[in-house]
Amino acid sequence: MSAKRDYYEILQVAKNASQDEIKKAYRKLAVQYHPDKNPNDKQAEDKFKEAAEAYEVLSSSEKRQRYDQFGHAGVGCAGFGSGFSNVDDIFENFGSIFEDLFGMGGGRRRGGGSGSQRARKGSDLRYDLQITFKESVQGTERKIQIPRRVNCTSCEGTGAAKGTKPITCPTCRGQGQVAIQQGFFTYASTCPDCTGSGKKITTPCSDCRGSGSQTKTSNINVKIPAGIDSGMRLRVSGEGEGGSFGGPSGDLYVFIDVKPDSNFKREEFDLVHPVKIGIAQAILGTEILVDSYESEPRKVEIPAGIQPGQRISIHGAGIPKLEKYGRGKGDLIIEVSVEIPTKIPKEAEDHLRAFAVKMGEHTKNSAGFFDKIFG
Ligand SMILES: [Zn+2]
Ligand SMILES: [Zn+2]
Repeated sequence: MSAKRDYYEILQVAKNASQDEIKKAYRKLAVQYHPDKNPNDKQAEDKFKEAAEAYEVLSSSEKRQRYDQFGHAGVGCAGFGSGFSNVDDIFENFGSIFEDLFGMGGGRRRGGGSGSQRARKGSDLRYDLQITFKESVQGTERKIQIPRRVNCTSCEGTGAAKGTKPITCPTCRGQGQVAIQQGFFTYASTCPDCTGSGKKITTPCSDCRGSGSQTKTSNINVKIPAGIDSGMRLRVSGEGEGGSFGGPSGDLYVFIDVKPDSNFKREEFDLVHPVKIGIAQAILGTEILVDSYESEPRKVEIPAGIQPGQRISIHGAGIPKLEKYGRGKGDLIIEVSVEIPTKIPKEAEDHLRAFAVKMGEHTKNSAGFFDKIFG
C-alpha cells in the first residue's frame, strides 16, 4: 500500500478553496475519469475513486475541518478527538496512513475481505489524556481505565458455539465485500451480512452472542515522562484490543493534551515566565523569586535599566528534554514587562515631577510646574 495523497492535491485546489471551487474541481475530474468513459482502465478507475473520496471529505465542512487538523487519520472516525475512541475505523478506511503517523513498520494487515480467518493483530486504541502544565514539566504517573475488547474465553474468539464452525457467507460468497450502486457510482462496501469476515456463524456462542469478544475494563498505569508536550503520543505496547484467532494484542496510544498555565509558557524546552515589575524597579534593578517547578524558588537578578519586553535567560533551568531531543534541560526565560501605575500617592507624584524636571521631560497637567517657570 502506498501512502494516501493529499485531498487538496487530488482535487488540484488550494487549501483555502471555496466549496464552489471544490465542487467544480471534483466535477471536472469525475467527468474525466468516469468509468463509463474509461472502460477497463484501472488507473482511471482509481483516480475516479480517489477524487470521490477527496470530495466526500472536503465537501463536508465538519470532515474538512477534521482533515485539516488531523490529516487522513482525522476523517472516517466519528469518535476521533473525544475522550475515548476506537482507532480501528481508521485502519478500515485508510490502510497504511496510521502506520505513517506513528512510524510503525509493516506486519499489520486486516483480515477483512480475504475470507480467511488468519491470525490478526488486535486494534490499536486511542486515549486522550489531559495533564497540568506542572505535570508536563515534572512528569507524572496516571492510572487510566480502558474498556477494551478481549477474546471470548468460551469460543476462543471464533464466535461459534463449541463444536460448530463458521460457514462461508452466502451474501458475499466469502469475499467480505459487496458492490453498492449509488447514482452512477459503484462503491465496494463491507458485506453487511458477515461484516467483512466472509464467514457466517450458524450457531453463535452464547457467552459473546457470536461476536467472539467480550469487553473488559483494565486499569493501566501510564508513566508520563517529564518534558512531554501537547500533541505528543505515548505508546503502551500490547494494551490495545485483543487479537483474533491467536493474533497479538494491539497497542494503546495515549494522546497528551497539556492545560495552559497562566504563569508559564513553553517554547520547545524553554520555560518562559512573564514577570511584571514597577518603573522604579526597571530603572534601579531588583531581585525577584521565581517558582519554576524546581525544589526551591529561584532568585533572579533584574539588572538596572531593563527595557520592557527584554528577556533574561537562565541556562539549564527550563523543561527537561525528552530523550530523543538531547540531554539536560532547556532554559528558564524571564520575560520582563514594566507596569505603569495609573494612580500614585501625592508625595510620589511630587517626586516624579521633580524627577521629570531633572530629566528635562515636559509632562502634562503640571500646572504647578509651569507656574514655577512662567509665574
Ligand atoms: Zn464466545
Ligand atoms: Zn458476507
